[in-house]
This record gives sequence, structure tokens and C-alpha cells, in this order.
Amino acid sequence: MTQSPSFPHPDLNRILFSADQIQTRIHELADTIARDFGQEEFLCVSIMKGSFIFAADLLRSLSARNAQPVLDFITLSSYGGETSSRGSVSLLKGLTLPVAGSQVLIIDDILDTGRTLQTASHLLYEQGATQVRTCVLLDKPARRSVSFEADYCGFKIDDVFIIGYGLDFNNRFRHLPYLTTLTPPPIP
Ligand code: 5GP
Ligand code: MG
Repeated sequence: MTQSPSFPHPDLNRILFSADQIQTRIHELADTIARDFGQEEFLCVSIMKGSFIFAADLLRSLSARNAQPVLDFITLSSYGGETSSRGSVSLLKGLTLPVAGSQVLIIDDILDTGRTLQTASHLLYEQGATQVRTCVLLDKPARRSVSFEADYCGFKIDDVFIIGYGLDFNNRFRHLPYLTTLTPPPIP
């Protein structure tokens, strides 16, 4: 787990959203989601690993608004230490809770090509969800390769690679409390 000297590092001059800005936006999203789902229980499916901090903050904000989320996790393949998307999405680890008959809110960190959320939505409908809605913290519309839009979106951004607040590069930087771009290593 040692970091090589040429490893990319967070670009602190290009912090896109501070911890405070993220929390403010999450409370706005929670207002809308709590209103839409009302007092009914609904299943929140957090896509591992990138959405774990967003899901935790969103659920606590939903709780403050008397919503009734029940949380489960799913692991789908995504970038394997790269900064561009591979073609297909596969299921690495499924849900532990039953889905049939549930209203579902899928929570993900970022909507990029759209393949991950499209695959996850199909999967949940196949398992008997009555309705599947999706919530992402970030959306890069310019990168879309399949037709998919999220129902709830924190911030729309340009085509840049983001780390922090759960998002990684090669499993690093998830712990950063803000969202920033990555500085590429100098070319030797
Ligand atoms: P999609 O299937 O929409 O192309 O990709 C979604 C997944 O790719 C996200 O859940 C995330 O794991 C990863 N991803 C896409 N863009 C970024 C990015 O800018 N930074 C990081 N760290 N991951 C990204
Ligand atoms: Mg992901």
C-alpha cells in the first residue's frame, strides 16, 4: 500500500465542492426525496464502494425528515484503477434483503457513461422492485454512452476525473471530505 513518488495527488487548487457545499446540496436532495417517498418504507441500494459516504449522509438527512429508508449494498464492477470506463458492468456482490414489492432508490456516487446505473436498475426490476429511482451526487452528462438519466442529482460537472468524498483513484483518496480533481503525475 505504499504510494510511489509519481502517484497522482489531489488537486487542491481545483476543489470543485467543499464539505459544506456537499452537505447543503444533500439536504436539498433529501427534502425532495423525503417528499416523493413520503412515510412509506423504501429500499435504498448503495452501490459500493464509491457511494458509501454519500449514502451515509443522505440517509441521515432523510432520517431528519422522517423518511423511512432501509439500506442495502450492491457491488458492481467499475474502474479497476483506471480513469476511463471499461465496456461492461458485472455484478460482484448482490443484495442481502428481498427486493420484490419494494420501492427502490439506487444511490451512486457519479453517473458517467450510464452503464452502471442502467445495469443496476434492470437488475432490481428483474428481482421484483415495483419502482426504481436513482440518486447520484455527481453527473457527467458529456460522457453518457447509454440513454440514462438520474431522478435526483447533486451536481452536474464537466468531463473531469473526480476523487474524494468516497470516490477513489486506485482505492485511494476516498477519505477526503471534499470533491476535487486529480493532478496527473509529471511525465518523466
Ligand atoms: P458509468 O457506469 O456511469 O460509466 O460509471 C459509473 C462509475 O464509474 C461510478 O460509480 C464510479 O465508480 C466510476 N466513475 C465514473 N467517473 C468517475 C470519476 O470521475 N471519478 C471516480 N473516482 N470514479 C468515477
Ligand atoms: Mg461506482
